[in-house]
Amino acid sequence: MTKILVTGGAGYIGSHACKVLAREGYTPIVFDNISTGWEEAVKFGPLEKGDLLDRARLDEVFAKHKPDAIMHFAALSQVGESMQVPGWYWRSNVLGAVNLCEAAVEAGCAKFIFSSTCATYGDQDGVVLDENSLQMPINAYGASKRAIEDILANFGETFELKHVIFRYFNVAGGDEAAEIGEFHRPETHLIPIVLDAVDGKRDKLTIYGTDYDTPDGTCIRDYVHVMDLVEAHVLGLKWLEAGKDSRAFNLGTGSGFSVREVMNAAGQVTNRPVPYEEGDRRPGDATRLVSGSSRAIDELGWKPRRSTMPQMIEDAWRWHQTGHYEK
Ligand code: UDP
Repeated sequence: MTKILVTGGAGYIGSHACKVLAREGYTPIVFDNISTGWEEAVKFGPLEKGDLLDRARLDEVFAKHKPDAIMHFAALSQVGESMQVPGWYWRSNVLGAVNLCEAAVEAGCAKFIFSSTCATYGDQDGVVLDENSLQMPINAYGASKRAIEDILANFGETFELKHVIFRYFNVAGGDEAAEIGEFHRPETHLIPIVLDAVDGKRDKLTIYGTDYDTPDGTCIRDYVHVMDLVEAHVLGLKWLEAGKDSRAFNLGTGSGFSVREVMNAAGQVTNRPVPYEEGDRRPGDATRLVSGSSRAIDELGWKPRRSTMPQMIEDAWRWHQTGHYEK
């Protein structure tokens, strides 16, 4: 069976990718340092513990498994944190990616699927964000991801290394069977925090900023279901397997939801109140990030199936109630 090296495969998105890869007949080989992921989430193929900054360990794993392609999810991914400790983001995300690209080239692995982000576009409110939009990140997280896109472009010019870049908007929801799901410690993402507030695991949600230039004053994001997102990755893999050229794709639905709208939807799905307070803006947050592209649908044949707000919250809530990895 074709082996895919999945960095960050013990994390939220990576573990869902492994589930779909296994379903599609691939063997996901997880490479993860278990710093923010969970060993319990590695259920669909072997786990190789290691850090991307450890080049020798990476070479060992490439030599052992000879993967045909890479799906690179491993990264520090919190906007707020990236503004507090930017050096972590440049070192871990960027140097880690350089190591991975070099190891791939030396091992003759020529297909690279990369999780990038809409945070590479920055704060261009009023501009339709498609794949040709300027990338002007306003936080170190987005800047580190844009740098990796540049690295992939350079490597692609020099070596046999083709890439598909996916620029995610906000990923939400979870596996329908609630076998895996979203769980960070500490949690920083809106929907799991809202659900924690709903069921009393935290006192309340703090809304980060109510004075944005949006209809209700809170930031607007485009939420995409994690299963739809990882299905796009398999289509990206098939794109490279078909010998097509390197390409970047936005993954979003084109619909924006404000923080207050997400809270209201969570209240409706769970049928419970969402305790909250209004707080200050979080440094690094863009006003509105909504995809303005249908390239993934048009060119990859991507068919998002579960990316409605109620469905994403319902799936996240089902997982939330299992007690996830806390058990
Ligand atoms: N947010 C919030 N309170 C929280 C967490 C997030 O108001 O406790 C807001 C955040 O400012 C942003 C949106 O929710 O506008 C989504 O944030 P998240 O961290 O989930 O994803 P990001 O957009 O940063 O990747």
